[in-house]
Amino acid sequence: MTEVQSVLVIDDEKINLKIISDILSDEVSIMLAKSGEQGIRKAIEYKPDLILLDVVMPEMDGFETMARLRHDVRTSAIPVIFITALNDSSHEEKALLMGASDYIQKPLHTNIVQARVRLHLQLVKQRKMLETLANIDPLTSLANRRKYKDVIEQEWQKAITHQGCLSLLVIDIDNFKQYNDCYGHATGDKVLQQVAMVLAKQALDKGLVARYGGEEFVILLPDHTQEDAAEVARLCMQGVEALNLAYSHEDFSGKVTVSVGGTTKLPNLSCSSDDLFNTADEMLGLAKKSGKNKILWKLPSNPHTIAE
Ligand code: GH3
Ligand code: MG
Ligand code: MG
Repeated sequence: MTEVQSVLVIDDEKINLKIISDILSDEVSIMLAKSGEQGIRKAIEYKPDLILLDVVMPEMDGFETMARLRHDVRTSAIPVIFITALNDSSHEEKALLMGASDYIQKPLHTNIVQARVRLHLQLVKQRKMLETLANIDPLTSLANRRKYKDVIEQEWQKAITHQGCLSLLVIDIDNFKQYNDCYGHATGDKVLQQVAMVLAKQALDKGLVARYGGEEFVILLPDHTQEDAAEVARLCMQGVEALNLAYSHEDFSGKVTVSVGGTTKLPNLSCSSDDLFNTADEMLGLAKKSGKNKILWKLPSNPHTIAE
């Protein structure tokens, strides 16, 4: 299904709003605002894909509106096309220097407006696609480490503000090198995909699952107490075991399992989101050293084995 893109038109004259709506409404979803102030409010609320902005308006003109849109992180990335009857290259230069994507002269020619709007909406579509690709691990379709880093930073700040807790699981496939040695890299890749699906299912609607790298995954669980998060960890471990991926290699015979390190923290300004990962990762290391196929949790006093 192709998504309908949206355009916000900001112009103080009703007749211009009508003309532009008529030109574009067959192709895009149109929102209208009759002042800079109203336009900024709608841009924040509806996050249009593109803004068409009149230069000459009473009270707040197009340049001031543009400056405010650029200044606000909620609207700063939305491309803006200026529309004006002013035939003055210094205005065009000013608009472009302020970061406008384009500049259209009135009187409006239907084909020119449509062509320019189509071009900029196409660029928006491509940018969104690149952003998505940059955040996804191609093998498993899970979020990648980069996406995880963005999300944990946001969740960490949110948890500080709301004084909520944050739990993190670091999950690593046991003896995966041996599995690869036994069946080859391509079959190993299929295992990574199957494990990813188990984790995604268990974390559905609860938090973010990401492939941190290699055969290591993370699950970030906002507002999950230690008990809730440990239950997710248990289900992940059981889910992987239930895949029943048996193999035998040299001194090992068994099936694919995972080890999990976990921790829950109440974020505050004296520690960072890296501490959450480092603690869970340290627990994972201990789980590996103490026999694998188990969950180790950092409790305020000591590491604690939750399940094995
Ligand atoms: P441990 O239980 O201590 O985690 O042992 P391990 O063998 O799982 O860990 P080790 O770090 O020794 O080896 C990781 C293995 O994971 C080796 C590497 O080839 C494999 N691996 C990492 N990324 C991929 C991948 O994308 N595809 C496949 N098939 N294998 C991968
Ligand atoms: Mg005007
Ligand atoms: Mg491993």
